[in-house]
Amino acid sequence: MTIARTVLVTGGNRGIGFSIAEEFVRQGHRVAVTARSGQGPEGSLTVRADVTDAASIDAAFIEIEAALGPIEVVIANAGITRDTLLMRMTEDDFTSVIDTNLSGAFRVVKRASKGMLKARFGRIVLISSVVGLYGSAGQVNYSASKSGLIGLARSVTRELGARGITANVVAPGFIETDMTAQLSEAQQADYRKSIPAGRFATPGEVARVVTWLAGEDAAYISGAVIPVDGGLGMGH
Ligand code: NDP
Repeated sequence: MTIARTVLVTGGNRGIGFSIAEEFVRQGHRVAVTARSGQGPEGSLTVRADVTDAASIDAAFIEIEAALGPIEVVIANAGITRDTLLMRMTEDDFTSVIDTNLSGAFRVVKRASKGMLKARFGRIVLISSVVGLYGSAGQVNYSASKSGLIGLARSVTRELGARGITANVVAPGFIETDMTAQLSEAQQADYRKSIPAGRFATPGEVARVVTWLAGEDAAYISGAVIPVDGGLGMGH
């Protein structure tokens, strides 16, 4: 039987985050999402927060914990791209992506660790990307932010692993969301050719791996990077 947990998903108003929140709700957990706009799925609590702002994260935690109890599971999903070639990439293109994708995850994990340490239980899942391991032309900022999440999860594992807390990374390949809808038809066809599975994934295919990692059956998995990429990264 699944133990019902209190779960927070950042960026849960659309795309992969929405789907992850939906799957946790379906499995009977108490689910909150943070969103800058819009709403999480039916059955979840939506709270406004921007991951680039530690004070707004703190306020979101206070609001969620008052409504649903201590947060036991955190999914750091919020992320952005600002793709361009290195020669054209401004310092702001670089730092804004790091600030959201990597520092944003740090802020959320740090805030969550307080309650997790007290409870001596926690499940942390960071949403990285196949390009964090593989590299990607035009994504020096994004790819660096996504590799950074691996060091973060592994160091959290070493620091907090003895306190019942696990931290893992999920590295999706190409998933059908607004983020990949920005790619041209020609780019999408090109990418499809390089994916052994020959297709993009649905957000649900990522969500079910994330909920499994946060569940009882994955209690002894920590510091791992789980690819959900149709073979694109060949297990990296
Ligand atoms: P979307 O662009 O569809 O959604 C991004 C989500 O992040 C939105 O909910 C957005 O909120 C939120 N977000 C962005 N910036 C902030 C911020 N500063 N504070 C709070 N929330 C923020 O992306 P996907 O669903 O495709 O991606 C989700 C995650 O998965 C990202 O980390 C992405 O890098 C990763 N990923 C996606 C892949 C794909 O193929 N789609 C592949 C590999 C990884 P708002 O609606 O308010 O903008």
